[in-house]
Amino acid sequence: MPDWARASFERRVPIRMTGDMNVARALWGRYLDPMSIGADYSSGNHPATEGQLPKGDLLVLGLETSCDETAASVVRLTPDGTATVLSSVVHSQIDDHAAFGGVVPEIAARSHVEMIAGVTERAMTEAGLGYGELDGVAATAGPGLVGGVMVGLSFGKAAALARGLPFVGVNHLEGHAVSARLGAPVAYPFLLLLVSGGHCQLLEVRGIGDMSRLGTTIDDAAGEAFDKIAKAMGLGYPGGPALEKLAASGDGSRFDLPRALLGRKDCDFSFSGLKTAASRLAQTVETDQDRADLADAVQSAIARQLAERSERAMKDYAEKHAHRLFVVAGGVAANRTVRSTLESVAAKHGFSFFAPPMAYCTDNAAMIALAGAERLQLGLTSDIDTAARPRWPLDEARALADPVHPAGRKGAKA
Ligand code: ADP
Ligand code: MG
Repeated sequence: MPDWARASFERRVPIRMTGDMNVARALWGRYLDPMSIGADYSSGNHPATEGQLPKGDLLVLGLETSCDETAASVVRLTPDGTATVLSSVVHSQIDDHAAFGGVVPEIAARSHVEMIAGVTERAMTEAGLGYGELDGVAATAGPGLVGGVMVGLSFGKAAALARGLPFVGVNHLEGHAVSARLGAPVAYPFLLLLVSGGHCQLLEVRGIGDMSRLGTTIDDAAGEAFDKIAKAMGLGYPGGPALEKLAASGDGSRFDLPRALLGRKDCDFSFSGLKTAASRLAQTVETDQDRADLADAVQSAIARQLAERSERAMKDYAEKHAHRLFVVAGGVAANRTVRSTLESVAAKHGFSFFAPPMAYCTDNAAMIALAGAERLQLGLTSDIDTAARPRWPLDEARALADPVHPAGRKGAKA
């Protein structure tokens, strides 16, 4: 490999291992190569010994900057696993991106830089706490838009270093996975459908750091399909809520949209065929009623695929677990048709159904603080030089053994 090519894989800033970093070294251990998908970044590298495990309540500051929300939150976690949200501040960048019809990574990163200090300050004030009262700082370390992830991650590390607090780099998806436990007594294990703008996955959640992926999208996420089809229909951004509103006065039964992956035995999703077909139809519809009918057809098709795949996962899950709980999280869980379709599928298979309140379904930092606190409770902390990761599959072993995107990609997005 020529020098110039090799150079692009080198770290640009030498890692200091002495002096000021001594504290971090002693607490957090070794450096991991950010270019390798196989590197184990999970904060579970450094379990504490029994005697070092924190006792009593934990107060953790969480930060989230992986997409288009700058968020900070303080959560209290008691030893019995009860979480209380003391503050949850979310600054949405929707207005910054609306003119472009989607999230512009560069604008997002700059906005995070401008907002992170103020949003964090507000979260601390609303919680009525000083930094000295915290037990740890958690920040999303990926997956997401890397410019934004770096902002929250650097801010979180700096706060932890300045105060001598343990730091936890949290996988954003792990945050969504635990969001059901924010303010509700939801016990592990459960089957989770995580369905947002960036992700569409079925996960067996046995506990913090102990989750297996049962299925994932092979192309677009469901929220992305909602947004892109809505954009083709001229509904603006974000498109999901607008499309749901339009669908309320429509009847989509006359449209025959493609049903992806029918007959496949796995629990994977695919929405790109539906997106292409619906976007083409969007150019042909003429009346307002036609548009409402198409919106209804799209919404039903997405809900139906989510239900079909979840049903498969429920059958597998039910063979292993007597406690049958199905949780749906992520922004698309706000859609009433999606919710009710999933709820009836869950009932059919003997699962109880839970969807977190909307504020915890869409991106927020309370879920990051809780994931961080649960990790801290087990003594799992992160390297202070943990790198931001654009891609970070929650179930890394599964992603390596059974990649969804084999050739030409660096690995599964999540
Ligand atoms: P991400 O951060 O991955 O973009 P979020 O969890 O913040 O995802 O959720 C945003 C996504 O949820 C967007 O794609 C949006 O269109 C979708 N969404 C929000 N409300 C609805 C709704 N009522 N119907 C369908 N999709 C929705
Ligand atoms: Mg979002």
